[in-house]
Amino acid sequence: NLKKYFPVNQTNLFSTQKQFVKAVDDISFAIQSGETMGFVGESGCGKSTVGRTILRLIEPTEGQVLFEGQDILKLPPNDLREMRKEMQIIFQDPYASLDPRKTVKEIVGEAFHIHKIGSSKEIESQVKELLLLVGMGPDQINRYPHEFSGGQRQRIGIARALALHPKFVVCDEPVSALDVSIQAQVVNLMKDLQQKLGLTYLFISHDLRIVKHICDRISVMYLGALVEIADKADLYKNPLHPYTQALLSAIPTTNPNAKRQRIILEGDVPSPMNPPSGCRFHTRCPEAQEICKLKAPELRDLDTNHMVACHMR
Ligand code: SF4
Ligand code: MG
Repeated sequence: NLKKYFPVNQTNLFSTQKQFVKAVDDISFAIQSGETMGFVGESGCGKSTVGRTILRLIEPTEGQVLFEGQDILKLPPNDLREMRKEMQIIFQDPYASLDPRKTVKEIVGEAFHIHKIGSSKEIESQVKELLLLVGMGPDQINRYPHEFSGGQRQRIGIARALALHPKFVVCDEPVSALDVSIQAQVVNLMKDLQQKLGLTYLFISHDLRIVKHICDRISVMYLGALVEIADKADLYKNPLHPYTQALLSAIPTTNPNAKRQRIILEGDVPSPMNPPSGCRFHTRCPEAQEICKLKAPELRDLDTNHMVACHMR
């Protein structure tokens, strides 16, 4: 039941009224150890907010986040700092997320300093090992971010995230800012690292082809709500929610005989300050009925591991 509402101050002639952007509006899901759970949806649907809220990089408005049974929202600062070693994030933009004034050694080694782990000699050798792990030369440690390509910078971002041997990593559009030719290399590296280190990923992306490549299960978000959760194969073969069907119909296919019809959604995504009543997809849904305006559909399990929130299913 996670919620994150961001306050917005809206002033007009007649009133000063507090309004909220309902970025994440009462969602529940579970991620299994060792799996990659994808989060997909258009930009602004709340997927990055989910990733940050469950790491407590931003405080949620309401709800619980259980990590191995412990509610991390209730942890006092000291325990939270300990827990942070287990939970890390890889950011979207490797240009913006690395401090340009710091060397690779300082960037990747920062966590060791924060947690007071090891002498500077030990930290240096750890950083070298981490660079090798992400496919970079250990001789790069004294260089600065601007000396690297986008793909290499993201490797540095990955090395930083893995420094303290986390169990769980939020990957927030980790390859979206990279050239298409580099994306596969970085995604494959992340897959290898998962195998090698037994990592669990929450993989956020708007690119359904990348998600198909790396994820085991997929959650689809629309306007702050979860509309469908399913195993990858199931979701691509048999998408149930009208929004998922539209999203998947937009992926170009290499098969010229494929009968799939592109579903074009009418209208824009409504404002998350005032999401539509009932099913928040009703203003754009080709199947909407009267009940859809009145009642919000619950996310329910239709079949083993295939959950959907739609009155018509
Ligand atoms: Fe469309 Fe209604 Fe289903 Fe919402 S509940 S997705 S509006 S059919
Ligand atoms: Mg985002």
